[in-house]
Amino acid sequence: MDLTLLYRGPLASCDYDCPYCPFAKRRDSRDQLRADRARLERFTDWATGQTTDRLSLLFTPWGEGLVRSWYRRALTHLSHQPHIRRVAIQTNLSCRTDWIAGADLDTLALWCTYHPGQTPYDRFLAKCRELDRLGARFSVGIVGLPDHLDAARRLRADLPDQVYLWVNAAEGRTYDDAEADVWTALDPLFPYSRRPHASAGLPCRTGESVISVDGEGTVRRCHFVRAELGNLYDGTYRQALRPRPCPLTTCDCHIGYVHLETLPLYDVFAGGVLERIPASLT
Ligand code: SF4
Ligand code: SF4
Repeated sequence: MDLTLLYRGPLASCDYDCPYCPFAKRRDSRDQLRADRARLERFTDWATGQTTDRLSLLFTPWGEGLVRSWYRRALTHLSHQPHIRRVAIQTNLSCRTDWIAGADLDTLALWCTYHPGQTPYDRFLAKCRELDRLGARFSVGIVGLPDHLDAARRLRADLPDQVYLWVNAAEGRTYDDAEADVWTALDPLFPYSRRPHASAGLPCRTGESVISVDGEGTVRRCHFVRAELGNLYDGTYRQALRPRPCPLTTCDCHIGYVHLETLPLYDVFAGGVLERIPASLT
């Protein structure tokens, strides 16, 4: 079967200090890092052995994964497995980029976020240009806050046209029409992010063809619904996979609502759902 997995292990540290993030400049102890590495390796081994399924994987760490060698190694290794269609990760792109040349670039993809104030603009842009030179698949995005607008405009002007620049509505922020138009001029798909999506009772692919997995292998339908479906490593999750409506009122995060069947986003992002690359750009 085709199965999409969103993996989030215990890693919770980040090298950046974004004012809008609870994980800013958090440190993991040596033991916590060791535990994160062991759990990631267990998940990687499981995915490697799952050869009768076709897997798409997105790593969504709380903190920054790619500054850790074990994430770079896992992504490289998984990208070479024939039954893995896509392996992607959310990253601030502060990592080195030389490892990317060792991955299968038809399978690897990066969801990159620019955080103004955390790294010089030119340094981030140079990393994007290096990804482009290497032939990597990647999207670039930014949080739609007023003081990010200049950087967003610069990025849109400086990035190659075929690199999608997405804009995420800032959490809890209301955008009037004029403000929304400004962001939509940079990201034509911003209207999907502008407001949380009413989701109660609506069909969502999570829990059927998409699941969320934590470091212990606990399987949930998505990162936002806490009810457990079973465990990945003892196989108990499998019998729980079936269509089911969303039990929450709203879904306001792209990695969730992209799977809502009432939205057209599997068509909009066909071939790039996990790394957020629209079909029109590929
Ligand atoms: S880069 Fe991401 S994880 Fe790190 S502080 Fe900023 S928002 Fe948080
Ligand atoms: S709509 Fe969002 S919150 Fe609801 S089940 Fe799907 S991903 Fe989870």
